[in-house]
Amino acid sequence: MLEPCKFCSPSTISSAEGRIEMSGRSDPCANTSQGDYEVASPCNHVDLPQTLLEPVLTKRAIHNGWKLRFDTKFLRMTRPSRDVIISEVFDDVSKKTYKIQSRYLFGCDGARSQVVRELGIPLIKKPGQGLALNVLVRADMSRLLAHRTGNLHWVFRPEDMHPPPWGWAAVVRMVRVWDEWMFIFLPAPGADLTADAMEASDEEYLARVREFIGDDSISVELLHVSKWWINEVVAEYYSDGNV
Ligand SMILES: Cc1cc2nc3c(=O)[nH]c(=O)nc-3n(C[C@H](O)[C@H](O)[C@H](O)COP(=O)(O)OP(=O)(O)OC[C@H]3O[C@@H](n4cnc5c(N)ncnc54)[C@H](O)[C@@H]3O)c2cc1C
Repeated sequence: MLEPCKFCSPSTISSAEGRIEMSGRSDPCANTSQGDYEVASPCNHVDLPQTLLEPVLTKRAIHNGWKLRFDTKFLRMTRPSRDVIISEVFDDVSKKTYKIQSRYLFGCDGARSQVVRELGIPLIKKPGQGLALNVLVRADMSRLLAHRTGNLHWVFRPEDMHPPPWGWAAVVRMVRVWDEWMFIFLPAPGADLTADAMEASDEEYLARVREFIGDDSISVELLHVSKWWINEVVAEYYSDGNV
């Protein structure tokens, strides 16, 4: 399921000034009748966050006899021969380091990939675009979205004379239909805030979330707050031998 992206202003998620299809969906204005995902993949697109996908994958893997290791950090690797890879990993529970021999190594370790560092793959980096603040909440917004769904909402509040420096605008991303949401708060364009300037109390984060929802009858539970750097980084290539 890939629902449209909505632009909401003034104020709240329940309003909608404009809508665009997300990149994966067919765009009626485009020359092609298919969206990017549809063209690129033989599979149907499923909008599934890590919290829901990971249990499916781990269950399947365990039932097929795989050994999964959580709390384990990949440290480094060596390749004594073409088809032999020795990975050194750190077990954060036992605090022990040990080695795993394998024929292949898949590095699914994200934007700061240690596997990429080990291979020395050059990265193409665009200038950083500052800090953003993720506020994960449980809030049942099905009523607000009954007639105009959208899994990503750009919400602006031009009527706010003194918005908190960390919360000028928000991208509100559906995590679970329609009761779990990530509020990605963004400072005003050009405001290069430090991590300290993004700090606020849980009550202040929640108050801003409620303002962006714009309906006080919807109860909001704060689940998690974190900060992240907006970066655009692309590896020059994606494999090296069996890695
Ligand atoms: C706020 C936010 C909103 C987003 N919204 C969207 C969206 O709406 N649609 C979309 O398509 N994309 C979105 N993205 C982008 C998307 O989340 C990422 O592109 C995607 O998660 C990258 O997946 P990944 O598996 O490469 O890395 P990650 O999801 O970062 O996973 C990497 C994993 O590797 C682990 N790891 C790292 N280093 C090591 C190590 N040394 N040893 C062991 N484990 C390690 C990490 O703990 C992590 O679990 C969003 C990203 C952010 C931050």
